[in-house]
Amino acid sequence: LTSTTSRQLSTTTPLNNTFLKNSPNAYLNKQILERYKSLETPKNRVQATYLWIDGTGENVRLKDRVLDFVPKAVSDLPKWQYDGSSTYQAAGENSDTTLVPRAIYKDPFKPGKNDILVVCDTYSADGKPTESNKRASLMEDMNKVEKEHEPWFGIEQEYTLLDIDGRPFGWPENGFPAPQGPYYCAVGANRVYARDLVEAHAVACLYAGVDFAGTNAEVMPAQWEYQVGPSLGMKASDDLWVSRYILQRIAEEYGVVVTFDPKPVEGQWNGAGAHTNFSTKAMRADGGMKAIEAAIQKLSKHQERHIRAYDPKEGKDNERRLIGRLETSSITEFSWGVANRACSVRIPRGVADAQKGYLEDRRPSSNCDPYAVCGALVRTCLVE
Ligand code: ADP
Ligand code: MN
Ligand code: MN
Ligand code: MN
Ligand code: MN
Repeated sequence: LTSTTSRQLSTTTPLNNTFLKNSPNAYLNKQILERYKSLETPKNRVQATYLWIDGTGENVRLKDRVLDFVPKAVSDLPKWQYDGSSTYQAAGENSDTTLVPRAIYKDPFKPGKNDILVVCDTYSADGKPTESNKRASLMEDMNKVEKEHEPWFGIEQEYTLLDIDGRPFGWPENGFPAPQGPYYCAVGANRVYARDLVEAHAVACLYAGVDFAGTNAEVMPAQWEYQVGPSLGMKASDDLWVSRYILQRIAEEYGVVVTFDPKPVEGQWNGAGAHTNFSTKAMRADGGMKAIEAAIQKLSKHQERHIRAYDPKEGKDNERRLIGRLETSSITEFSWGVANRACSVRIPRGVADAQKGYLEDRRPSSNCDPYAVCGALVRTCLVE
């Protein structure tokens, strides 16, 4: 017996697993933690996982603290510091960075208790938002427009599962799967991979309080999508960050890697986006098409601003994805159309028929910061 085989024998992981190579998390016995989860803990002790976005603008960090009270509102929660020099957010000599709690969710990883997830934004020693804190300015703008316009957002999050070696999950080790075509919304062991994970994620998000809206298998094998919303104001963006964290936590348990890279495989393989659906009170009202067209008119004048806001590298990531093929538009030219998936902005067929509803901005990359994306939409369409 090799050491790998003996490790496998002590767990529920099947033998001869050709995927999940060198994935230590996948080999841990998942039953053991259950024994401890059912232990009784003091009633007034609450575990809170503080979540924040690090200096990359695309990765979530977290740390846990035990509170000695049950919080009723986010304003009850203490601020907290962390070492920003270890998250690309501060220099070592002045590294204390502050977490400000902004939204509370139920923690699906510690169910049945009062334990919570806390979405935070981050502030430097001088009290200003850190560079990757795009939430602060979105909140400022949202406060100006929310009452009058009631902006709703619904985001379609695409992502790709990878084996620990960086190869898309389920793909042959040498070579490629058959070309795209049979995989989108498919069923069957030769067409979709890791549906377990997708379904666990849906339930966990609903439990947490995310406005989770649906899932589908994507065009590229090992690629999936889920949607959040439509939600008012900040909630869609907060929900998207929480749902990304939950997805990565569940994938961690399975020993599978999630990538939000917008073009995980070069060539004739679809990239991954975060189509952002947007509406206002006027767009949703009868004859709202007029307001939709007015917004598109404004968007057409700010292609550059939007491309800069739509991925964490100010357009560099989307350069690989927005190539005018494979259901994407050109990165340099704004375009729009009804039911057209090769446009920057699409009006869904049902919206055109009803002459009211919402628009779909197809440009945001899968690793975008929704605070930046929604911020750009609000600024272009509502603030100016
Ligand atoms: P498709 O794949 O056809 O582009 P999906 O069904 O995947 O569309 O996603 C539709 C998205 O539109 C969902 O995220 C949903 O929340 C969002 N949405 C629906 N109605 C509205 C609306 N009035 N305002 C904003 N977003 C909306
Ligand atoms: Mn320490
Ligand atoms: Mn979709
Ligand atoms: Mn999709
Ligand atoms: Mn879409």
